[in-house]
Amino acid sequence: MSLSHYLQGITRSANTIFEGLAVTFSHLLREPVTIQYPDRTTRPVRDMLPERYRGFLEVQMDICSACKRCERACPIDCISIDTQKHPETKKLMVTRFDIDVSKCMFCGLCAEACEEGATGAIRHTREFEGSVGVIDALVFRFVPPGEQFPMYRTPKDKSEIPLGQVGPHAREARERALRDNPALFDSLRQQTTGEGNQPG
Ligand code: SF4
Ligand code: SF4
Repeated sequence: MSLSHYLQGITRSANTIFEGLAVTFSHLLREPVTIQYPDRTTRPVRDMLPERYRGFLEVQMDICSACKRCERACPIDCISIDTQKHPETKKLMVTRFDIDVSKCMFCGLCAEACEEGATGAIRHTREFEGSVGVIDALVFRFVPPGEQFPMYRTPKDKSEIPLGQVGPHAREARERALRDNPALFDSLRQQTTGEGNQPG
């Protein structure tokens, strides 16, 4: 190898090192592109989620007709619903409504099936923080052990279906339902505040 080739090699290596260092140091002065979760965001993460974000599922048992459309629609069998007749009243009761969130892929097929063919009792919330010590804790049980809910009789006119209120994540789902449905929000506000019934 000639001396000039040798010197060119050293110059190229030095240039490469300086280019690399220039890139590295330039990043020291830039704003970071990553966000420290969860405590250094400018707004709560939940407020930054897209409008139609699909988080954990919520079932409002007081308006569930136990039709099992959601169970049948789920492609990976996350949902398990059991019913039985009450020995005295002979009414059909929901004795189990479990959703295994650890298997759920948040496709929304169950909520769609319920919304289109039933009462809208199952829906996605905007909740997503599901860190647990044991995976079984991700089976959400909407009928507490030993309890049962009467099957909801769906009215012919679906606009008569109330906004469900029973469920571990009911408040969140309720807020979401209201936000997505301003007409419902207005009618509920009228019911609760008497607004619109006042003279004048
Ligand atoms: S009413 Fe909705 S949540 Fe209840 S079983 Fe039917 S589809 Fe599922
Ligand atoms: S979101 Fe999809 S995967 Fe999850 S329970 Fe519903 S249908 Fe099943």
